[in-house]
Amino acid sequence: MGKIIVSLLMVLMFASLGATQPAKFVDDNAALRYLMAMGYMPQISSKTADKLAEIRDLDSFKKLTKDNLKELNSASGFLHTVTRLLDLAADCSKCTFIVDKKLDFDTIVPPYRSVRMFARYINAQGWQNAENGAYAEAARKFCHVFRLGLNVSRDGFAINGSFGIAIQKMAVESINNLLALNSEEKVKKILADCFTNLPKPLVDSRVHIDYERLFIVNSLIRAEKEPAMFGHMELFKDESQKTEPKIVAPDKACAANQRVLMGALEMYFMDNEFAPLASDSETVIKTLVDQQYLKAAPVCPNKGKYIFTLVEGEEYYDVSCSCGVDPDQQPAATDETKEKEPEFSPEVMKKIDEYIKSEAYVGDKKEINVIFDEMLKIDPYTAAGDEAAGKLAERIENNKSALVQYLMMNPQSFYKTLRENQQRVDDLVARLTK
Ligand SMILES: [Zn+2]
Repeated sequence: MGKIIVSLLMVLMFASLGATQPAKFVDDNAALRYLMAMGYMPQISSKTADKLAEIRDLDSFKKLTKDNLKELNSASGFLHTVTRLLDLAADCSKCTFIVDKKLDFDTIVPPYRSVRMFARYINAQGWQNAENGAYAEAARKFCHVFRLGLNVSRDGFAINGSFGIAIQKMAVESINNLLALNSEEKVKKILADCFTNLPKPLVDSRVHIDYERLFIVNSLIRAEKEPAMFGHMELFKDESQKTEPKIVAPDKACAANQRVLMGALEMYFMDNEFAPLASDSETVIKTLVDQQYLKAAPVCPNKGKYIFTLVEGEEYYDVSCSCGVDPDQQPAATDETKEKEPEFSPEVMKKIDEYIKSEAYVGDKKEINVIFDEMLKIDPYTAAGDEAAGKLAERIENNKSALVQYLMMNPQSFYKTLRENQQRVDDLVARLTK
């Protein structure tokens, strides 16, 4: 039976091979290509990631150590695939990382940390090209970084706007520094092609305002059905609540211990001339405790033993644990782990219930709508718009409604980010068309 199925599959396979139709794209969403490209990115430690964040020119690229470079190029076999995916992404007419149409507080946002890492990775690859004299290739990489940032910044929520703009800024700074290094026609043409026919303004703030508004409306509708959600908004103080000790997963606790040890070591070497410490970890930890770089000797909850290894050619120690937990693999923030829903006291639940049924709540929702209407009228790219946004920001900040204060974004700082970004790109376009 198994054989029959296999041969049937083979027939089907060859039948499809026989068809000469080109593959049809199921979608035209650049985000898919970006996410695939990110899958081919090498593993990058937080130490190297910090260094990549700084790179904007050749000098900062040259600060990378041998180890940093090794990580940067550890998946160089896939770089061609990554570049190809970036080209495919550039050909797409759409880009959205928002795949959940419900648009409420459960909506899945783009994996910001990975997207940022990816942008920094491509940016660093561009500077590596520049170091090798491949300026045209460098220009192409920076264009891809810019386009990624542009795509993200036009995608829904205001936070995507600011986030995408930070990526654009990195690309534009790199491009300006590349032009200072080399402005031959070929390089300029690649950049000019990338920066002509851009929409103006680059980022339409109304898209973000509409998303924010929809997000709040939907979230409130859901919260009315699940009133505990209002408890999460910290609108109601609970005097009766006792603080319970937080239970931390053992792996997280071990990762946290390792970070503490790293910090203590760094402090130690700031004060002491570098000299290799004892090789057994107990003595090292004892030294750190005795000299008050550590309050107490950390204990691995997985019964592991902390190990210190002197990194070859480098004047620092690597900390690890025999239990195998790697802090780079353990998110430091809680944004990826869902904590158990805290219980709210009956007292708080009663307050929430009263609030939802009150006239005040109806009024608060009306106020939110009015503020959004006002926001949509503002042109973020003018001085008058800045002033109007400032007035709205005050209205939100000093609002008598805690709900308004909690939920509404500050339009003035967001619009300022948009305006400065537009100026930066306009300046670059002027430079390229000169
Ligand atoms: Zn451990």
